[in-house]
Amino acid sequence: MRRVYLDNNATTPLEPEVFEAMKPYLAECYGNASSIHWFGQQAKAAIETAREQVAKLIGSRPNEVVFTSGGTESDNSSIFGIVEASEPHGQYDAKHLIISSIEHHAVLNAAQALEKRGVRVTYIQAGEDGVVDPADIEAAIRPETVLISIMHANNELGTIQPIEEIGRIAREHDVYFHSDAVQSVGKIPVNVEKLGVDLLSLSAHKFHGPKGTGALFIRKGTNLRPLLYGGHHERDRRPGTENIAGAVGSGKAAELARLNMEVEMRRVSSLRDRLEETILATIPLATPNGDRTRRLPTTSNIRFDHIEGEGFVIAMDLAGVACSTGAACSSGSLEPSHVLSAIGLTKAQARSSIRFSLGRLTTQEDIDCVLEVLPGVAERLRAVSPHYNKEAVRRPMSAAGKV
Ligand code: PLP
Repeated sequence: MRRVYLDNNATTPLEPEVFEAMKPYLAECYGNASSIHWFGQQAKAAIETAREQVAKLIGSRPNEVVFTSGGTESDNSSIFGIVEASEPHGQYDAKHLIISSIEHHAVLNAAQALEKRGVRVTYIQAGEDGVVDPADIEAAIRPETVLISIMHANNELGTIQPIEEIGRIAREHDVYFHSDAVQSVGKIPVNVEKLGVDLLSLSAHKFHGPKGTGALFIRKGTNLRPLLYGGHHERDRRPGTENIAGAVGSGKAAELARLNMEVEMRRVSSLRDRLEETILATIPLATPNGDRTRRLPTTSNIRFDHIEGEGFVIAMDLAGVACSTGAACSSGSLEPSHVLSAIGLTKAQARSSIRFSLGRLTTQEDIDCVLEVLPGVAERLRAVSPHYNKEAVRRPMSAAGKV
């Protein structure tokens, strides 16, 4: 059976060139980057090359890039790090955070953990389009606001947030600004200067690098308390013996993403558009979720009324197609997606929504295959839905009402 992978927002396959670049650092180049001998120097040189490659992808200086274990750590480091470093020390209830209600759980749960300690948190609602309004953020700023954290691209909808505008506001009010750019880095241009961020999270496995490795951009001069205590690695920003193979893989993946981005954005968005337009034109009661103009070229989120999402994902999987109901780390949860709920979908609508996320390996043939199997799956699942009236949706809406 042909297998099609349309869950690239969950993770992407490791690019063979990235694997090749990593191999020596999993075997013969085993030095510790902190050692002063030849073995250590080899590791040190590799990690510094990788740092330059990541910096080039996001338009920062290499010494502003800190390697981490991925997006979750980078997000947590930013949120806890700013709160802990800011004055007055230890007085959580004198500090205020602004985040959006559609953040990934790595931000949301970190903010909620701090809220339990007394930190005040404002959750900015996104509109029905899945985009936050910068004016709402500006209105929420207080004298005690220490950090604004708004994601660049949403992992479920793909919607791109007005980060540049929020960056300007944060600067005007002298508030630190973090952006979780885990879903955007490597897929669309990300430039930390243009975006005006002080902190930016990225994760290599979202752009064909290895899992368990990523980075945090920390603007020079940012007052951040490290999450971990230990040695003086990563310029005192992140202790622990460096994951050289992971960093090398991140660097190589960053380089490939930068070189291929323009062509890939065009290619993938045209595949995504074909998939989405065909579904919307041929499957009854299929509705796109979120803004369709300001979004990642890789992502389509569609609601199929009267279809239970988890059942759809399983049926599609049996037919060889991998897609998802939303964030991979929330699958298995009985609660509907917090992102879809936040943009106003009912529980039933959120549960009937499916995310298709494409990547560098997605081909025309993959899309053909999905379009071949999807109508049958939708039809079969709706046939067992107690609320679905096939005859009603086939007729024009006015006639359907009379059935
Ligand atoms: N932030 C966003 C927007 C994500 O999509 C993810 C992963 O799904 C993360 C953070 C967490 O990244 P990682 O898997 O590298 O910890």
